Amino acid sequence: QTSDTLLDVNNIEVIYNHVILVLKGVSLTVPKGRITALLGGNGAGKTTTLKAISNLLHSERGEVTKGSISLKGKNIANRDPAEMVRNGVIQVMEGRHCFEHLTIEENLLTGAYTRTDGAGATAADLEMVYNYFPRLRERRKSQAGYTSGGEQQMCAMGRALMSRPEMILLDEPSMGLAPQLVEQIFEIVKAVNANEGVTFLLAEQNTNVALRYAHTGYILESGRVVMEGTAQELRENPDVKEFYLGMS
Ligand code: ATP
Repeated sequence: QTSDTLLDVNNIEVIYNHVILVLKGVSLTVPKGRITALLGGNGAGKTTTLKAISNLLHSERGEVTKGSISLKGKNIANRDPAEMVRNGVIQVMEGRHCFEHLTIEENLLTGAYTRTDGAGATAADLEMVYNYFPRLRERRKSQAGYTSGGEQQMCAMGRALMSRPEMILLDEPSMGLAPQLVEQIFEIVKAVNANEGVTFLLAEQNTNVALRYAHTGYILESGRVVMEGTAQELRENPDVKEFYLGMS
């Protein structure tokens, strides 16, 4: 762990319902200001890892039973999810989770609820979000439930940005989206990372796209990290090519 480590997950074990061992000692480091990818197939444990970090396991009867999670050197395991948001860590869940009866703009404004710096700052951030997501500006008066999957993904990401987070945990942003839209979403992640300095930890089954945008990555299989490295090292690794990139 170095001074530019934002998050350090050390050998965590997660158990659901007191019996089902899902993470079997996962360790990973997220450097500040970088994009880190958490890769692996269906059921490998990516979502569970993100939820362990943002303390969202409780509602699923899951708990971290071993290991430690620290944010800037401070232990954060088993805290309140709201405290994590105040600490600058926010999760964008798989499947988007916008409030479908609210308009896009109302959804975005709900993201600013923890802010204490006034309406002027909120208006400026709304403008920032619309600059990253021009599509959301066009759709701002539409009820979220009637917008497309891509627009809802953007809405969930924009809402997260409205809390001015230091780190976004992004779960499977590509899910169910057409390739061109996936590329657009990742371009925005890259721009937000570069311009706002937001750190990303993103879970993806789409190894190909994730390794083109992330700086470093981890591959999970059955609740264990089986490979890690810079994105370039992983892209060039023969096993990654064969099993995850679909070419040998
Ligand atoms: P996916 O892309 O399908 O979400 P994942 O890599 O994110 O995959 P997880 O969702 O973390 O994987 O699931 C890891 C394992 O934990 C799976 O075997 C899953 O069935 C199990 N699991 C997930 N949530 C629960 C739960 N609430 N109770 C019991 N088992 C669970």
